[in-house]
Formats: sequence, structure tokens, C-alpha cells
Amino acid sequence: MAVRQTILWGEILAGGSIELKGKLVPGAKSPAIREKVAPLGIIDRGYGMLAIRLVRGSIAKRVMKLPVDIHTHTIASTHAYSTIHDYIAEARRKGVRLFATTDHGPDMPDAPHLWHFGNLHVIPRLVDGVGILRGIETNIRNQQGDIDCHDGLLPGLDIVLAGMHEPVFPPSTALAHTKAFIKAMESGRVDVIVHPGNPNFPIDIPEVVKSAVACKVAIEINNSSLCHSRRGSRDNCLAIAEAARDLGATLVLGTDSHIAYTLGDFTLAEQLIIEAGFPEARILNLSPRRLLDFLEQRGHEPIAELSGL
Ligand SMILES: [Zn+2]
Ligand SMILES: [Zn+2]
Repeated sequence: MAVRQTILWGEILAGGSIELKGKLVPGAKSPAIREKVAPLGIIDRGYGMLAIRLVRGSIAKRVMKLPVDIHTHTIASTHAYSTIHDYIAEARRKGVRLFATTDHGPDMPDAPHLWHFGNLHVIPRLVDGVGILRGIETNIRNQQGDIDCHDGLLPGLDIVLAGMHEPVFPPSTALAHTKAFIKAMESGRVDVIVHPGNPNFPIDIPEVVKSAVACKVAIEINNSSLCHSRRGSRDNCLAIAEAARDLGATLVLGTDSHIAYTLGDFTLAEQLIIEAGFPEARILNLSPRRLLDFLEQRGHEPIAELSGL
């Protein structure tokens, strides 16, 4: 059997056939098929989808255990409940190797003072083997794509997220939201646009995705949008993942954790990208190196202390 390193999620979900040990196995939804493939060590995630990987001729169990989380809030954002210490402990417990601390930009009512972001350099790069990126979740302020982080702070930040939040950008038209996202990406200040599936901020999905490709900005699939926050996001997120699949965009999963216990738990976001048949090659969370390379390509300084991750 040929060596394959590819996760075959899309092919399976689509109900098509996959090749297993030289035999074709049809779509994964029937109990009979599940029985057949279970002894081979294939993961059944319990919702009719299978994610498998064939490695050196054997079938490796594979829940997409993603070791990178780009979106977390500490008690510096007052509606979040954990400290950096808590996140590090949880990262060690779960095998998360790199996470970004990304509290809200100062325009939000719960946000820390700007000094919070100016002082992030006191956080060690690496604690007990866990890498920490110094980040911010900025607010897109207007249709010009302005964000609430001044240029003087940007060089000290490893990762800049940008999204729309109701207290800062009152929901408007799809045209206005689309323009705002595109302008923010074109500014070059933003590495990732976050929770673009929020139904309160409808967008022209193909236009935003095309712009993300052109600007080399990643698009977040936000796990919280699929459970705790922004109810009604799922259909939009799926459409975004499908457009990203077809237009060549890069996705990154974020938990948007407001408490450490959810760090690295991408269960619902993984389910969604499996459903979309999104290629593994364009998911930034697959390894710390992949995210760090992306950030370096965007012009961030290489971080020597994280080079071993
Ligand atoms: Zn947000
Ligand atoms: Zn957030």
C-alpha cells in the first residue's frame, strides 16, 4: 500500500470511497462500514465522520490533536477567568505546545489598558516547554479597517488578530462589514481575521476570502462561535471554510478561550473543517513550526527561543 500522510476526511465525509489496504471502502456513515473499519484502528468521532491517516503503510489513530491555539483571553479581559499560569498548566496537561495570549484591544469595555500590550515582553517565550506568543485581539473600528492598536505597539506583538465586536463596530450592512475586513487585511497590520462567521456581521464571503488570500492573512474558525458565543455562526463558518478550501485560503483554529479549561479544545471546529473537506496542508495549527513560519512570512521577527518547538 502506498504511503500516505494525508487525512482523508473530506473524501470520507462526502460519502465517496476511500482506499484502505488496497480495498475500496464506501462512505462512512453506515454502521456496517463502521464495524468493518473499527478493527483497523480508525477513529469514529461519533457523528458519522471519520478522520484517518495512513502512515508508513499502517493506519494511525488520528483525532486531530492540534498542538497550537492562537486565541485565548486572560483575566486582563474582565469577562475571562484564567491567568497565563493557568493556561501554561493546561497546555502541559493537554499537550498544547504553543498558544497565543490575545486579550481584547482597548476599545472593548472589558479590555485592559494599552500598557498591557506594551508590557507583554515580560512574559517568557517558553515556560516548561510551552511556547507563548504575545498577541492581541484588536477591534476593527470602521469601514476603513482601522484597528484599536497603534502602530508603535505592533512590532512588540507576535500575532495580531482582528475582528468585529458589537460595542465597537455597531452591526451595519454586509457591504460595510466586507469593506472593513478587507481594508483591515490590506493594511498589513493584521495576521488573522477572527470569527468572521458572526451572523450579526454578515459579509460577502467570497470577497473576504479572496482578499485574505491576496493579503496572505489567515482566517479563523472559532470554536466558541460553535458553542458559547455568536449563536447562529455555524452555517456561515461552514460556508467560509468551503470558500477557503476552493479559493486557496489558509485557516487557523482558535478556541477563543475565556477560561483555561477550553484551551486546545477544537472539537466543534474540527468537525466543521472535516465536513468542509478542508485540506490539512492549509491549517496552521498542525504544528508550532507551521504557525511560526506563517508569522515570519508575514514579517514578524523569528523567535529564537521557540525554534526548537
Ligand atoms: Zn472576539
Ligand atoms: Zn476573543
